Amino acid sequence: MLYLLIACRSEAASVLSVSFPLPAMGQLWDPQALLLVLAWLGFQGLLYLLPLGKVTQGMPLHDGTRLSYRINGLHALVITALLAAVGISCGLRLSYVHDRCIQLSVAATIASFVLSAFLYTRSLFVPESALAPGGNSGNLVYDFFIGHELNPRIGTFDLKYFCELRPGLIGWLIIDLAMLMKEWETQGSPSLAMLLVNAFQLLYVLDALWHEEAVLTTMDIVNDGFGFMLAFGDLSWVPFTYSLQAHFLVGHPQELPIPAVVTIVLLNALGYYIFRSANSQKNTFRRNPSDPRVAGLETIPTATGRQLLVSGWWGLVRHPNYLGDLVMALAWSLPCGVAHALPYFYVTYFTALLIHREARDEHQCRKKYGSAWNAYCSRVPYRIFPYLY
Ligand code: NDP
Repeated sequence: MLYLLIACRSEAASVLSVSFPLPAMGQLWDPQALLLVLAWLGFQGLLYLLPLGKVTQGMPLHDGTRLSYRINGLHALVITALLAAVGISCGLRLSYVHDRCIQLSVAATIASFVLSAFLYTRSLFVPESALAPGGNSGNLVYDFFIGHELNPRIGTFDLKYFCELRPGLIGWLIIDLAMLMKEWETQGSPSLAMLLVNAFQLLYVLDALWHEEAVLTTMDIVNDGFGFMLAFGDLSWVPFTYSLQAHFLVGHPQELPIPAVVTIVLLNALGYYIFRSANSQKNTFRRNPSDPRVAGLETIPTATGRQLLVSGWWGLVRHPNYLGDLVMALAWSLPCGVAHALPYFYVTYFTALLIHREARDEHQCRKKYGSAWNAYCSRVPYRIFPYLY
């Protein structure tokens, strides 16, 4: 992550060249940045505790019980946005986040380490039934990394659920906005390319928080323990590397011809359409298979009593939602032009992540649905990209 950020701020912005000056260790550490990161986490934590939004039940646990979750991520985003707007109109220099981005990312990584150490230590004192099946190997390093406890909570405060969408995703938007403010300061106005990147990623985060309840059925919440992998991913990796395109544009402004803008907007709209309709189709079907919007779709019965969709989006490929996500990822990089590979890091990394995630999900589904899953695979042979993969 540090390597990417340093490369992004260098003139060459090359992923392969290490000729740019690397900062000394002392320059990476800034107590003020750590205080800011802690204040950010505390502020988002307070917003999570506000009695706004509904409370809903998660998926049944191994013992049949269900945990309650408050759905108020969108409220947290709106309150944060309002405060940011008031702050900026009162002279707050949000571009500070650009100037101290490296130190802030180091501070967020330290916070992720400390949180993971706390999580691992407390997991040693919880009953075996509270542990995540995948993170219970007995190997300290592996369990620390993958996550030992499934749903660590302090009272009703669910640490994994809190970190999953709020500080990182809302933080990502704040970093994007900080890059836009920096460009405004240095160039006199934000560029079209910067506005596109900010708008696309705002849409993505708004969508995630609007559908916050859907996170309760994801692998991260249902199967994975909370350890360094998720803590670092949520608190450091997502906000600091997903904002790489906006960061790149500050030092490497791009002129976009109008036909290119139109093409990129259409590509993002296409990706979003596939992503949203595929996710909504499955969520609607899982909540109520007789819903008129999905009742006409063809299905395969499974021994568990649940059915698998084999027509509609889920009949095109086995993960149409990943396909849409990747089309959007490409649209977020294109405003940065084609002269540098660095802004394409996200789409490249994300392709690898989703291919790996698809394989993990496939493994779980085969275990869960057995021969019905094999029948689904023969009906729908492609995993993510039609006729390719
Ligand atoms: P998915 O939403 O793809 O869910 C997979 C589950 O869907 C399976 O385990 C199975 O569960 C069910 N399913 C699979 N096939 C079918 C079918 N044919 N019919 C009905 N149900 C089926 O999981 P993810 O959590 O991986 O992804 C959610 C979204 O989040 C995606 O859009 C993804 O792109 C995005 N994402 C984004 C990331 C980022 O960093 N930006 C990271 C990870 C994901 P069951 O049968 O038990 O219901």
